[in-house]
Amino acid sequence: MEKRLNIKNLSIEELQDWVESAGEKKFRASQIFDWLYDKQIENFNEMKNIPKSFYSLLENEFEIQSLSHLTTQISDNTDTKKYLLQTNDKKLIEAVIIPDGEKNTLCISTQVGCPLDCKFCATGLMGYTRNLTAAEIIDQYILTSKLLAPAKITNIVFMGMGEPLLNFDAVMRSLSIFTNKKTKGISRTKITVSTAGLPEKINALAVSDYRVKLALSLHSPFDKIRNEIMPINKKHSLKDLKPALINYAKKTKTRITFEYTMLKGYNDREEDIEGLVKLSKQIPSKINIIPFNSIAHMSPGGLSAELEPTVYDKLFAFAEELRFRGLTVMIRQTQGDDIAAACGQLAVKH
Ligand code: SF4
Repeated sequence: MEKRLNIKNLSIEELQDWVESAGEKKFRASQIFDWLYDKQIENFNEMKNIPKSFYSLLENEFEIQSLSHLTTQISDNTDTKKYLLQTNDKKLIEAVIIPDGEKNTLCISTQVGCPLDCKFCATGLMGYTRNLTAAEIIDQYILTSKLLAPAKITNIVFMGMGEPLLNFDAVMRSLSIFTNKKTKGISRTKITVSTAGLPEKINALAVSDYRVKLALSLHSPFDKIRNEIMPINKKHSLKDLKPALINYAKKTKTRITFEYTMLKGYNDREEDIEGLVKLSKQIPSKINIIPFNSIAHMSPGGLSAELEPTVYDKLFAFAEELRFRGLTVMIRQTQGDDIAAACGQLAVKH
């Protein structure tokens, strides 16, 4: 039997075209849209205002669910929740919800594994299997929203498994749903896409309709160190990235967030402070300092096995010095490391 397309892979315009080609009135597309994203139904026969003959047609043509929920782990110390989800072709991915007062941030995955092999990241150690579809990205939001209810997801960060900008089309499609007013979705100012640094895609995002906040996994202001810990830098150096980042900040009138995982001896030296000060003068930015979270659960080898966290006293002194030099610096509190849900720890052993 031919594999059915998941209906959540269609934009509202594509849905309208399909509805009309099936001989129905265009307004049915808005009704379907409402059932899918506002009421978040799980079966076509729950669409009460759609004629039975038409939802039978929908059933034949499309599938509606792309993920199933397998387990939830809840952190003892921070209430961070990590969800293990399975795609219809039995691939495993993770999504995380990080609570912070009234705020609940969903950290979403965009790929099964990741091809970029950053040395400090558990997902990178998994290798790469495939991109997620738009439906699979959207369903992470729908599924976890239901599991979290009555509390609500207030923010989304594309910082889970995978490099979002390597799955550009699906990420754009998911953004069109998340930010759609009809779905009572999430404002683009509450959505952040994080990238290891793909200049062409950053430029494409800057001229798209979804100019969300951008974070760059920086981790060092120097190409030499970035080459070692982030192999993608050999292809797209900081020199290539700078114009794209400056352009993005200008177009969106926002500052780029530099993600900066503190690695003992690699990026916590005096010269790194000088390098960051210089870079911050060139690019409108703020710095998010992240304590290095253990990736021992992936039994790493090579350089990954040698990486160690900067001790806390030194990390705080580093942040203070940057602030003293006029930079905006946040320190990300480690959330969910007891369940391997913290930054850089997501990975699934198949
Ligand atoms: S840090 Fe991001 S881009 Fe790098 S390997 Fe991990 S998931 Fe991929």
